Amino acid sequence: MEKAQVGITGANAVTAEEGSIVLAHNEGNIFEVMRKKKHIVVTAIDKIYPSVEDALNMLKVICYKATGVLIPSFIEVLSGVSKTADVEKKFFKGVHAPSEVVVILLDNKRTEMIEKGFRELLYCIDCGNCLLHCPMYNTVGNFFAEEKYLGGKGLAYKSLSEEEVNKKLEFCLTCGRCRKNCPLSIDVPGIIRSIRSESLPGEIYYFLKSHLLWLYYVTRLKLS
Ligand code: SF4
Ligand code: SF4
Repeated sequence: MEKAQVGITGANAVTAEEGSIVLAHNEGNIFEVMRKKKHIVVTAIDKIYPSVEDALNMLKVICYKATGVLIPSFIEVLSGVSKTADVEKKFFKGVHAPSEVVVILLDNKRTEMIEKGFRELLYCIDCGNCLLHCPMYNTVGNFFAEEKYLGGKGLAYKSLSEEEVNKKLEFCLTCGRCRKNCPLSIDVPGIIRSIRSESLPGEIYYFLKSHLLWLYYVTRLKLS
């Protein structure tokens, strides 16, 4: 880490107006990366925001919903390389690190998701509030959270990005508690319904199956 000349991070936002990268952190670890000569930012097209102001508003929401505090400990706004005009008004680049910034914007099937009518899913800011209010997650735990994926929303995303419907989507009760508690009111149950079944008989089958599964696990928990 000390000897490395290159640092890699993701980004919470890339802003269209200023061309800036916005990064939030609580630990201070990103300072280490930003001291390197070259900073590579790997992020995705759904992280593009109109302006720094919009990105800061998003950070306030994500931080409050995820941790209950109003703002992250640190927010970095990276708007190009290190530069100065302090000495005789002469402009110098790369005074301190970084002297080179590379931004990689991944698509990874996001455009395909938009074309298929699932744009709304890309508005997710990954605050995790939906998971906290999900009855299925609160009954079966991480089985429905699927590692780093976030419950119904994450399973829907995974199904669309892998072109294979994730079997665990069958567990969604389509109760709508995630939508109700989402700061962006993302219609996760509606998206799940569209992914797992396009027909009414199919949805009735999943509705009954998910509720029976839920009742089974709740009863088992109460008995144990
Ligand atoms: S609709 Fe599905 S993902 Fe959303 S809270 Fe209900 S069970 Fe969980
Ligand atoms: S779907 Fe909504 S509540 Fe869930 S993580 Fe995304 S923004 Fe947060």
